[in-house]
Amino acid sequence: YQIKEAKFNKSASRVENCPQDDLPEIAFIGRSNVGKSSLLNMLTGVKNLAKTSSTPGKTQLINHFLIDNKWHLVDLPGYGYAKVPVSEKAKWEKMTWDYLLQRPNLLYVFVLLDIRLSPQKKDLEFIQKLGENGVPLKLVFTKADKVKTMEGQKNITDFMGALSETWQILPEYFISSSERKTGKTEILGLIEEIIFP
Ligand code: GDP
Repeated sequence: YQIKEAKFNKSASRVENCPQDDLPEIAFIGRSNVGKSSLLNMLTGVKNLAKTSSTPGKTQLINHFLIDNKWHLVDLPGYGYAKVPVSEKAKWEKMTWDYLLQRPNLLYVFVLLDIRLSPQKKDLEFIQKLGENGVPLKLVFTKADKVKTMEGQKNITDFMGALSETWQILPEYFISSSERKTGKTEILGLIEEIIFP
């Protein structure tokens, strides 16, 4: 599966302002700086589709991109950076969770995790809440080129181990490197199955 056309549709500050919900949707989220923009650029083949930004958390909006006139790719704002005021965090919480829990055409959420890190509380809590609310999700361990294979595998095993304390069936995961263009085929293959079952 190859994406032929990806174009920006709309930014929304609340779920009510998102585009019409008549197309299937797949959303991407992760901690700020996890490599989300780079991954979205790789998947769509559009450079700067989601701008790789050096200012973490600058875009606090729900961004819809129309893919091949068939589905929406949704770029959700990152979570978990320290320097944001409490009021901003509360806004993020409400906007994001309203979207995740209320959007009827949202088929899957891809949660991005930095493969270099041992399991992080913020990620585990976020995924836990998705699970509790029955939001379908997949995981992507990003920046695989930045670690030795064994080290990456250990972090993945530890993360899945932490999840297995509360999860019966563990979510499927992918490993990606935007630098080396790995993981693209696998992720797009799954997206094709989700969108065109
Ligand atoms: P975002 O904040 O989650 O959108 O993250 P970005 O895509 O902007 O990436 C954050 C930083 O990590 C940037 O400096 C990227 O160049 C770098 N980065 C992202 N993905 C990769 C990757 O797969 N490999 C390497 N080596 N660096 C990456």
